[in-house]
Amino acid sequence: MSIQKRFTFACWNCARNYTLFRKITDEQTLTVACPFCHAEGVVQLQPFRKQKKKTVMRGGNEGDQPPGEELMLPEILPTQKPE
Ligand SMILES: [Zn+2]
Repeated sequence: MSIQKRFTFACWNCARNYTLFRKITDEQTLTVACPFCHAEGVVQLQPFRKQKKKTVMRGGNEGDQPPGEELMLPEILPTQKPE
């Protein structure tokens, strides 16, 4: 499953913010390019993946959703200089 969404990135090079449509997949990093200075940036997604808490329903029904990970992304994603 993948989601296509508009994200805001903070350029590591010129410090401006820009928005791009990106598809989030299981990959741990996103590669983006700043439209202002054309610097490539890498976004680490791993720190934003959180283990889903198991939902316990009232009445003894345990949630039947399997525990998994969800992406908790900040409003503005920091980019890093590619290595
Ligand atoms: Zn830039």
